Amino acid sequence: MKSYRKELWFNVPTRRALINITEQVAECLKESGIKEGLILVNAMHITASVFINDDESGLHHDYEVWLEQLAPHDPVSQYRHNVGEDNADAHMKRQIMGREVVVAVTDGKLDFGTWERIFYGEFDGRRKKRVLVKIIGE
Ligand code: ZN
Repeated sequence: MKSYRKELWFNVPTRRALINITEQVAECLKESGIKEGLILVNAMHITASVFINDDESGLHHDYEVWLEQLAPHDPVSQYRHNVGEDNADAHMKRQIMGREVVVAVTDGKLDFGTWERIFYGEFDGRRKKRVLVKIIGE
């Protein structure tokens, strides 16, 4: 069995953003040389997510509105976590959108449904953060 590990780094200039990382993950898979197996992609921070969904701007706007309704950033004083920091909402948004995805690797490719794409969800940006890509197989 082969295994491959890589960290992808992000430094998002805004507090929140959704970034399509499908091509970067596909590049990792190519580098790994693995043809059959599994690929794990996870955020290495507790205020960011990795998830799979549609690359459609209307949907991404809807996520932003929905997440702000569920866990509004302001007023920051509404959260007990916000003593000396202001990112309680980001921890909650990450919980909803998830930590990681697992994708099957078949014939050297990401074995996706038609509209599936991998996204990095940043909820407390403006600093360097990492995503782990781990691939196992042969
Ligand atoms: Zn925090």
